[in-house]
Amino acid sequence: MEMRADVLIVGAGMVGSALALALRHSGLEILLLDGGPLSVKPFDEQAPFEPRVSALSAASQRILERLGAWEGIAKRRAAPYTDMHVWDGSGTGQIHFSAASVHAQVLGHIVENRVVQDGLLERLHDSDIGLLANARLEQLRRSGDEWLLTLADGRRLRAPLVVAADGANSAVRRLAGCETREWDYLHHAIVTSVRCSAAHQATAWQRFTDEGPLAFLPLLRDGKQDWCSIVWSTTPEQAEQLMALPDEAFRKALERAFEGRLGEVLEADPRVCVPLRQRHAKRYVDEGLALIGDAAHTIHPLAGQGVNLGFLDAAVLAEVLVNACERGERLADVKVLSRYERRRMPHNLALMAAMEGFERLFQANPLPLRWLRNSGLKLVEQMPEAKALFVRQALGLSGDLPDLAKA
Ligand SMILES: Cc1cc2nc3c(=O)[nH]c(=O)nc-3n(C[C@H](O)[C@H](O)[C@H](O)COP(=O)(O)OP(=O)(O)OC[C@H]3O[C@@H](n4cnc5c(N)ncnc54)[C@H](O)[C@@H]3O)c2cc1C
Repeated sequence: MEMRADVLIVGAGMVGSALALALRHSGLEILLLDGGPLSVKPFDEQAPFEPRVSALSAASQRILERLGAWEGIAKRRAAPYTDMHVWDGSGTGQIHFSAASVHAQVLGHIVENRVVQDGLLERLHDSDIGLLANARLEQLRRSGDEWLLTLADGRRLRAPLVVAADGANSAVRRLAGCETREWDYLHHAIVTSVRCSAAHQATAWQRFTDEGPLAFLPLLRDGKQDWCSIVWSTTPEQAEQLMALPDEAFRKALERAFEGRLGEVLEADPRVCVPLRQRHAKRYVDEGLALIGDAAHTIHPLAGQGVNLGFLDAAVLAEVLVNACERGERLADVKVLSRYERRRMPHNLALMAAMEGFERLFQANPLPLRWLRNSGLKLVEQMPEAKALFVRQALGLSGDLPDLAKA
């Protein structure tokens, strides 16, 4: 038997789930499918932190609030941060950003990806959106004016509009033949959670080492500020060595790389190593097809922006589809879908280019470039206006915002 929907969203990660919820009152028949289970895990406050976390911007928080998911996130675990410290490990340049500088309460929240996911899933289970768990897409082809999808277990689905929200290695993108521009950062990221002897002071810390950026992001449990999530981006060779170190040697290496800013590293959870690759789809849309989130773009985690861009993609695409519905337009029409691409691609590209430049500047060893970044950091540190601009950008509250992210 074949199932049919008006919009079929492949991938119920944070971004696909957000899109499905944003379309819940549209009157459209939505089907959201994922290769994994779609159950909500009971939350245990004492459970170790999940290694994958995201720094959610104020814009993402607003979107999640309007989708009804923020309450479930906040009642589980979310760590607000008010300040950010960035410094050059091979010089004296440093810069400090604060929420207070733009009269905001926080710069954002560090939240475990699983917590965000469960907050969204809770709302999805309360809605009448069709959910298909353990539904891995294997084949996709045009069939008349529609797409015909075949799952790994042989089930078949049909829809005039398919949205790829199936992550960085998107099967939809590959099967539909969408081209990408991509390159290796020649970086791997080691991700884990650590307990430090000094409090993190609700601050996100980032040190640029010769090998790559090392971030300590504040976590919160029982109101205590002693745990941080770390993202250590480094060369594949060093990552391999660090992954092989016994626990105590790893903690010491981490402490040294971080100049002991938060005292001793007393405990470290198991490490995960992720190869980093920048990817950007040349087009986000085609007839009956739209790419969102990591399926459309992946960006270096030093920006802490990946999922924030994804939530904006989801909110803009939902807005475009709902408006088109109201005007009686055909949603699968590439002219309709291009409105989404026109609003999101320039924004995503600009941020990716800025991060690329930043990353290269900090990777560079020639003396003039080291001097430039050191003096650059010192110069910007003395320019409150420039810093405020950066903070507003990080809050995600500037530019062409969808209604879901507006105040
Ligand atoms: C080390 C690291 C640190 C990061 N830190 C941050 C940060 O601080 N802030 C931030 O904003 N972003 C951060 N990011 C990026 C962020 O994690 C991603 O942008 C985000 O997870 C993308 O969400 P998504 O829903 O698009 O894709 P995903 O989370 O990858 O979800 C894709 C979903 O699709 C499903 N799927 C895949 N293939 C199929 C298939 N064939 N059939 C059916 N279902 C399928 C998967 O099961 C999954 O549920 C970081 C990334 C890394 C690597």
